[in-house]
Amino acid sequence: MISRGEGIHVYDEAGKQYIEGLSGLWSVGVGFSEPRLVEAAHKQMQALPYYHSFAHKAHEPSIRLAEKLVEMTPEGLDRVFFTSSGSEANDTVVKMVWFMNNALGRPEKKKFLARTKGYHGITVASGSLTGLPYNHMHFDLPAIPVMHLTCPHHYRFGQEDESEADFTARLLKEAEEVIEREGPETIAAFIGEPLMAAGGVMPPPEGYWPGIEALCRKHDILLVSDEVICGFGRLGSSFGCVHYGFTPDIMVTSKQLTSSYMPLAAIVFSKKVYDAIADNTARIGTFGHGFTASGHPVATAVGLENLHIIEERDLIGNAARMGARMQDGLRAYADHPLVGEVRGAGLIAGLELVADKATKRPFDPVGRVGLMAFETGHEEGLICRNVGDTLALCPPMIVTETDVDEIVARMGRILDRTAERLAR
Ligand code: PLP
Repeated sequence: MISRGEGIHVYDEAGKQYIEGLSGLWSVGVGFSEPRLVEAAHKQMQALPYYHSFAHKAHEPSIRLAEKLVEMTPEGLDRVFFTSSGSEANDTVVKMVWFMNNALGRPEKKKFLARTKGYHGITVASGSLTGLPYNHMHFDLPAIPVMHLTCPHHYRFGQEDESEADFTARLLKEAEEVIEREGPETIAAFIGEPLMAAGGVMPPPEGYWPGIEALCRKHDILLVSDEVICGFGRLGSSFGCVHYGFTPDIMVTSKQLTSSYMPLAAIVFSKKVYDAIADNTARIGTFGHGFTASGHPVATAVGLENLHIIEERDLIGNAARMGARMQDGLRAYADHPLVGEVRGAGLIAGLELVADKATKRPFDPVGRVGLMAFETGHEEGLICRNVGDTLALCPPMIVTETDVDEIVARMGRILDRTAERLAR
């Protein structure tokens, strides 16, 4: 049981200290003891603990946060819709896109393109967009029309002797073939995480995102950037789409939006999408969608303060500098006998453990090697996450050079001790 947090550390009931190497669930950017967020929540609780945004009502924190999001996100994204979780946000995106195409008189344009191993949430529509078999199995998902394209991870899905550039070209060809086979008039949107995180930390190959963006523009397909993990500086750039050089029509943010001190997600989207919906409601009926907690005043007050802290302390710059140090440090383990690939960008990293480095042969899943390494991490005082046999790191954005060096050192000990355990 974790009972307390301070800075980048959490403590269990026995008082043992751990570096939270995954920021909880990739989310606690400002660390676990930020008094300004506690104060912002307290003040808002006293002033107006709850109000909604229905029926021409609004309240200040949600309006201020929406303005801040429009200011921070790339040009052209200037409308905001709040939900409480990333899953609800992606369900909302599906409904927005469908409503929009109904309003534009093209009801057949409803299908989504996503990727295998992508993660977009767990509710019925967002879980359908997710491309992980265990999130579909026994839930009768996908329940919406979605096609999952090949996961853009060169190490695992590149063919033998295929260069990264050739891999990108093959993925783009596949995407275009699917669009042409299905008919662009049936495809509403492409959704992807700029860097796929929860599926195993997989940065895209060079040229992938500009190529996908060009295909979307050519075929009038909306581009949705799921920035629930990458947003607000994780990769050392303001947003994942900025990092990889593309401009979405819709961006989904959460987690680091409030550093997860309060549940909140925000969809930031273009006027084009907004107008297609708003201009047509008089004709086709209201956009009947929203939640009791949409734009919750306490959550949005905390979100606004959190974004101010990120800016004032230059945490995005810190993520770029500390991220480069962490990536460099971890890459020293590329030669470790257990490590197949070290990958990542900024403050997100993954180390894939393999049974055979030369052939990339994975371990037999029955042995649960990733889990063994994860548990060794607890003994070493470093909480990471094992996605199968990939160890994922995403420490708070406040990390210092000393913290990063300690994370890298502990990871080295985890690898050595796991190798010793396997050799026994
Ligand atoms: N999208 C991405 C990229 C995520 O990583 C997650 C959660 O990890 C979600 C959506 C779903 O968010 P939530 O767990 O808040 O529903």
